[in-house]
Amino acid sequence: MRLLDNIEYVALNHPEKMAYISTDSQLTYGELWQQSNQIAGYLESKKLTKSSPILVYGHMGASMIASFLGSVIGGHPYIPVDISIPHDRILKMVESAQTELIIDTTNELAIDHDVTVVQMEEIMSHSNHVKTGADRIEGDKNFYIIYTSGSTGRPKGVQISANNLQCFVDWMLNDFPIQGGLRFLNQAPYSFDLSVMDIYPALASGGTIFTITKDMIAKPKLLFEALNQSNIQVWTSTPSFVQMCLMDPSFNHNLLPELSVFLFCGEILPVAICQQLKERFPHAKIFNTYGPTEATVAVTSLEITQEILKNYQTLPIGKSKMDTNIILLDEHGNQVPSGETGEIVIVGPGVSKGYLGQLELTKKAFFDVDGQRAYRTGDAGYEDETGLLFYKGRIDFQIKLHGYRMELEEIEYHIAKSIYVKSAAVIPVYQKDKIEFLMAVVVPGEHHFEKEYQLTSAIKKELGEMIPAYMIPKKFFYQEDLPLTPNGKLDRKMIRELVMQ
Ligand code: AMP
Repeated sequence: MRLLDNIEYVALNHPEKMAYISTDSQLTYGELWQQSNQIAGYLESKKLTKSSPILVYGHMGASMIASFLGSVIGGHPYIPVDISIPHDRILKMVESAQTELIIDTTNELAIDHDVTVVQMEEIMSHSNHVKTGADRIEGDKNFYIIYTSGSTGRPKGVQISANNLQCFVDWMLNDFPIQGGLRFLNQAPYSFDLSVMDIYPALASGGTIFTITKDMIAKPKLLFEALNQSNIQVWTSTPSFVQMCLMDPSFNHNLLPELSVFLFCGEILPVAICQQLKERFPHAKIFNTYGPTEATVAVTSLEITQEILKNYQTLPIGKSKMDTNIILLDEHGNQVPSGETGEIVIVGPGVSKGYLGQLELTKKAFFDVDGQRAYRTGDAGYEDETGLLFYKGRIDFQIKLHGYRMELEEIEYHIAKSIYVKSAAVIPVYQKDKIEFLMAVVVPGEHHFEKEYQLTSAIKKELGEMIPAYMIPKKFFYQEDLPLTPNGKLDRKMIRELVMQ
């Protein structure tokens, strides 16, 4: 695979070049390649089932990246799992992917399951395991599997092959001004495929990944100190994250004098954010990109120029990359007339083969068109007369909150499982067009709490063991029953009205 060849080339020819920098760890290309091969060799010595996925657990450390590369050099796809993911959910992933080995980069993971958990120290102490890389992941074989929220209460494992990833990286390096060994900001945790937008274009071009951790994000002083020292040239984040940075007036060209490109993906990019960025970083280019995990990070893009900002109140998501087709379909599967809204369907080499071990779900969302893979996104979109694509919201219950993707039905499923709950609905509360927070509307079961807030904190505590903190509704609202539509479904419109009163 060219991506791995490029990394190897830099490691052999410029071993001192910095590949990865975070506050507590850094690695040169030489070290990264050596560690990755050592991990690959260790995996080989474990005689695991061929191609069985390796779950890599941790936060934003250099050893996470070495473990990803070590897995694929050793012939295994990896599943990146951030520390924000609760154990119960990790177990579901282990079962679904039939994982035999977890690499724990934190030394803190305790899992009650028949799976081997190995710490980095143990792998590194086996210094005789150095790998030749004969089994490297190539072609249609899975490179990584990223789990996303699923409406049935089980996360879905999106399989991304070496070919899927390679065509994404090629597009990034050809169509965006990010080549030449630049320094990339890495803000998204590795369980989210936005991180793929900085990790692999950086490594494939001999660039450097500069990482910020969740502790820094929670403490703006630390974050700004790190940014000040970062010298980053390429910024990749969700719009929500940059919006948070913009609240501080010192977030400007003086803080990041070398910054030349902003890449956004994952949620609506508001005009106001771009206007502020243009004022504060007059020399930087801004790109809006769009795509789901299932089509490998992103498939459309548009540079947001002053002219675009002048002409549009809602920003377009742009045009699809050269090797990809976007079609807009109505509910019967027919292409909509030009200018009308339809479901965005992505056809091209970045589209995943489907959800790991979930044939029915895969069949619902994926199909083939003229030998190419296609994915129904569940996003509504339309194309204007100039051929620019616009995002018009979801056609189902999937939402984005602060850049995180989740299915309302999955959250409802877990709330309803609580011993204190009879039934529940989760309602996104909007301010203008943006979701501000989630509200759970709950019919309580029997409980011994005197006050509602005690009940709420008991339910939240249970939820904390099942789903990540970002999926737990902020507010809870208690009702005697939930209104239903005449055909017996939850009447979400009525529930929203109840909540908004
Ligand atoms: P994820 O799989 O987490 O990347 O989430 C994919 C979903 O995020 C898409 O299906 C869209 O609903 C939403 N999304 C991604 N990029 C954009 C964008 N530029 N504008 C609006 N929504 C976006």
